[in-house]
Amino acid sequence: MAAMFRSIPQVFRGHRCAPVPLSARMFSKKADEKLTLADKVAVVTGSTKGIGFAIARRLAQDGAHVVISSRKQHNVDQAVAILKEEGLSVTGTVCHVGKAEDRQHLVATALKHSGGVDFLVCVAGVNPLVGSTLGASEQIWDKILDVNVKSPALLLSQLLPHMEKRGGSSVVLVSSTAAYLPVPKLGAYNTSKTALLGLCKSLAVELAPKGIRVNCIVPGIIKTDFGLGEKTLPNMLPELNKIYGLQRLGEPEDCAGIVSFLCSSDASYITGENITVAGFSPRL
Ligand code: NAP
Repeated sequence: MAAMFRSIPQVFRGHRCAPVPLSARMFSKKADEKLTLADKVAVVTGSTKGIGFAIARRLAQDGAHVVISSRKQHNVDQAVAILKEEGLSVTGTVCHVGKAEDRQHLVATALKHSGGVDFLVCVAGVNPLVGSTLGASEQIWDKILDVNVKSPALLLSQLLPHMEKRGGSSVVLVSSTAAYLPVPKLGAYNTSKTALLGLCKSLAVELAPKGIRVNCIVPGIIKTDFGLGEKTLPNMLPELNKIYGLQRLGEPEDCAGIVSFLCSSDASYITGENITVAGFSPRL
């Protein structure tokens, strides 16, 4: 199964065309009807490929101005160029979410568009270790926790003053079903993703009085370079796809519509939820 997906050219993974073309989406609206996220500004971390790219594209298709970011300038340039070519409103900047100065720069870039930010979607995540949880060095723990767990909270603390004043702001975190169903040899990563479920609940309660909602999506195996890499579930548990209800692995786009919905006013009474996007797993 994994080998089959590996035959997909790398350049297309996570950059595949949206299932519903922008033009079709726009024509489905009346000419005078605004797109759901019109006039909104979204910051999406880890958004130059894979799940983050699909989310950024969808938020922009639904009317938001989206700030793309990741560690490598050429990835940012490529993602921005693709989305601009599609007629979408995007800007981009380098941001390694584990670096304070990069987070500061991301905030400044986002504020340039209209002086505020409505949505923060924290997608960036890493897994530098395959092996025993107790064998993980302090450096490995620091990297995993810095990028996967601390960076969403630290970035949000910098954006908060600019989100509060907008009204109807929303935050979406990205966990993993590894939070519920630990992947063998990925103990530190599993633990970081479980921590995000708790971070979602705590932030939701803390920010509710400010009218800011916080939710978390919990993807299963999604067809990205990360999801199909050697360190991940299809390789660790090759039979796993057989227990998935929908009998297929996920596409990055499977994670995009739910994030747009969670950002929209249709989700205005939904906060603190961890929502699984995994085609159903009886083991969760
Ligand atoms: P991916 O296709 O490898 O994309 C990762 C993206 O994040 C790239 O744009 C990468 O660009 C960027 N990135 C990596 N480290 C970063 C950092 N420290 N700071 C900022 N950006 C960074 O991965 P993916 O599968 O879409 O995974 C995205 C998220 O979904 C992760 O949090 C992962 O844990 C979670 N997830 C994935 C799956 C799955 O099966 N794919 C399942 C559950 C959860 P640069 O290289 O330019 O930085």
